[in-house]
Amino acid sequence: MPKTGVLIETENGGVKAINYGLLTAAMGNKENEVIAFITQNDAAEAKDDLAAYGVSKVVQLKVGSGDINSSPDLCARALAAAVEEFELDHIAGLATAPGRDIFGRLGAILDVPLVSDIQSIDYGAETAVKSHFSGKTMATVKLEGSPVVFTVRPNAVDPVENPVDAETAEFNADVADGPKVTVKEVKASQQDKMELTEAPVIITGGRPIGAPDNYKMLDECAEVLGAAVGASRASVDAGFAPHSMQVGQTGKTVSPNLYIACGVSGAVQHFAGMKTSKVIVAINNDKDAPIFEKCDYGIIGDMFEVVPVLTEVLKASEEK
Ligand SMILES: Cc1cc2nc3c(=O)[nH]c(=O)nc-3n(C[C@H](O)[C@H](O)[C@H](O)COP(=O)(O)OP(=O)(O)OC[C@H]3O[C@@H](n4cnc5c(N)ncnc54)[C@H](O)[C@@H]3O)c2cc1C
Repeated sequence: MPKTGVLIETENGGVKAINYGLLTAAMGNKENEVIAFITQNDAAEAKDDLAAYGVSKVVQLKVGSGDINSSPDLCARALAAAVEEFELDHIAGLATAPGRDIFGRLGAILDVPLVSDIQSIDYGAETAVKSHFSGKTMATVKLEGSPVVFTVRPNAVDPVENPVDAETAEFNADVADGPKVTVKEVKASQQDKMELTEAPVIITGGRPIGAPDNYKMLDECAEVLGAAVGASRASVDAGFAPHSMQVGQTGKTVSPNLYIACGVSGAVQHFAGMKTSKVIVAINNDKDAPIFEKCDYGIIGDMFEVVPVLTEVLKASEEK
């Protein structure tokens, strides 16, 4: 059975939910044995969560006395050693900021192509699907290299449970010299808010939001929905929101289950960043706005009237 290694991302002591879709992609049609590598948390604590999604071995990945979590370079070298140790046919991670940092290096170390930010994979046909030209086209790319190295867009693959028995192990990679790059500090831009690229639900405010304070209206709705709050570039350029909230071609690419666009016209550059959302809802006061041609559900109305009502209705249904 082919073996697929997966680098797991954790937060606040737990496995991030976005890993489960990655594990489903890694497993394929139950055709691969999946080995998870964990660096930040205790492998034993993560075992049950990962075994529910088909992981048969959870490996604590270390680099001697070095700090694997302080250096994408050390982590990539440890993964490269793990490829050999565990005879992996594929090695996968998330197309997040740390994932991109580590897997680009891993491809270079192994001297194989990195297939980045994919949305699906077909092991039999040795192909993967990913978006091209800012989401205007979808490309089916041939998987080459041994091992195959790929990253999966967060939330692009629906997680499917596949409980198995799992064991834990430790692998201390022999990484000869120290890190070439060390991360000294990570500053979260929105400390108390959910990261856009990982959020299952996003509510976005466009230019008509009019002032930074007005995002509070979206924050309130987001809290009930368990959503992250995004912004269009026009809103960011106007100084209503930080760039870290921008969705689109020159902002973040997101793939939530639900994307609610409030006062967003639907420009191609915005659409490029959210077109792979599973369900798109638009709230716009112009019935001819381009977003209505691209959404699944549309509400013609003033967002300052619609959003508070939506929040109240959601709160009421939550209380029931
Ligand atoms: C190279 C390049 C890169 C770009 N990258 C990005 C990017 O990453 N992300 C991005 O978003 N854009 C990007 N843009 C800009 C993009 O072309 C649009 O200008 C921008 O997305 C428009 O933002 P908007 O929809 O918020 O504003 P507008 O175009 O002003 O649209 C506002 C919409 O809100 C509606 N509206 C007004 N008042 C209300 C109300 N009270 N209630 C409900 N609806 C209301 C209007 O009918 C309108 O449809 C880029 C452009 C270029 C050239």
